Amino acid sequence: MTYAIPVPAQRSLSIAGSAERFPVNRIFCVGRNYAAHAREMGRDPDREAPFFFMKPAQAAVDASAPATIPYPPRTKNFHHEIELVVAIGKGGADIHVESALAHVYGYAIGLDMTRRDLQLDARDKGRPWEFGKAFAQSAPIGAIHRAADIGHPEHALIALTVNGQPRQASDIDKLIWSVAESIAQLSMYEALEPGDLIMTGTPEGVNAVLPGDVMRGTIAGLGEIEVRVAH
Ligand code: MN
Repeated sequence: MTYAIPVPAQRSLSIAGSAERFPVNRIFCVGRNYAAHAREMGRDPDREAPFFFMKPAQAAVDASAPATIPYPPRTKNFHHEIELVVAIGKGGADIHVESALAHVYGYAIGLDMTRRDLQLDARDKGRPWEFGKAFAQSAPIGAIHRAADIGHPEHALIALTVNGQPRQASDIDKLIWSVAESIAQLSMYEALEPGDLIMTGTPEGVNAVLPGDVMRGTIAGLGEIEVRVAH
């Protein structure tokens, strides 16, 4: 078969301790999954059913080594959101909570970079979030650590600094919807496929970055990522 135009490159991420790469299919993101972040966004942290939005695979940036992302156009409020990322290795629909973790290939540190001004404008007008969330290079993600190697973390410090100053710090045990519950809920609406990523939501402390800023994110057991915003 020949294609009429160049075939888009397959986005992929590094795997810790392996020369193989993880092909990125779709990126699902959980909205408001830490109570303190829901409150800072002006919303009640009730345990209502989780909601999801998406980023395209083109949003993924391999941040297994220090990475640089552009300052995106049409925003004056470019926010960081550090998140636990779940890499799906085995697909399925209507996955039960009890068996959900068997679908996980591994875990990584990610940043759900957000044009907050565009997102909130869309939110308040009842419009889609794409311009705020789904732009190119909006999801720097560190090396994926295989669940076969590290298990399934339930408690772990999750933290982000900007230019060395603390911005976000919490624990993944504060997730309103756990990894297994998020997989079960999402798979009720959409069959998961190998290569899908789930960004599980950010804790409180989201804030703006400027050109030249350096973000360092950590989740205990998953190492660290360093992402610079280009000038
Ligand atoms: Mn997020």
